[in-house]
Amino acid sequence: MKVSFSNYALGAGVATSLVNTAPEVRRSTGEALRSPGDLARFLDEHGLSPGPLKSAARPTGDDLRQVHALRGEIRDIMDTHAEDHAVDAANGVLARAGSRPVLLRNAEDGPWQWHVVTSQQASLAEELAVLTGAGMLGVIHTLSHSRFRACTSSTCEGMFIDTSRAGRRRYCTPDVCGNRLNVANHRARRRAGA
Ligand SMILES: [Zn+2]
Repeated sequence: MKVSFSNYALGAGVATSLVNTAPEVRRSTGEALRSPGDLARFLDEHGLSPGPLKSAARPTGDDLRQVHALRGEIRDIMDTHAEDHAVDAANGVLARAGSRPVLLRNAEDGPWQWHVVTSQQASLAEELAVLTGAGMLGVIHTLSHSRFRACTSSTCEGMFIDTSRAGRRRYCTPDVCGNRLNVANHRARRRAGA
């Protein structure tokens, strides 16, 4: 797999989505990655299978366990207030899968861009680590560490990386946590003391 540092939004988006599949994020939905099939669907929804991740063709139970562990690591990085510590940890994640820096261009006459390339033997979780690690570091480098934030919904423990131009995103999953009906229902339930 090769990951471009310029396209940090892809890895940051996958990091955000992955963190928000965890059971502690939304009690109403619980664990979103219960089986290898759930993981396959997650990768497919993010255009990673059968796309850039060769290892993603058919996830196994081992892959799922390793991705759950990686998910916890990514959450810890996003939740780290000290910028230097977040960068140290993300550098560690990026160094997996025998990754090395390579200067490549995507088209014959396109601009040269820095990529990180993983070894052929890399596991699914290692490739995801490199993709999300490059995304997180790209955001800190190009935007700011302040783009790692907690969801502002009072019913959600999610986190997200804001790669929008304006940087005013408030919710981890805007369709769910920022849904006006959900917000209004929650306020009504609180008023009713439920
Ligand atoms: Zn949320």
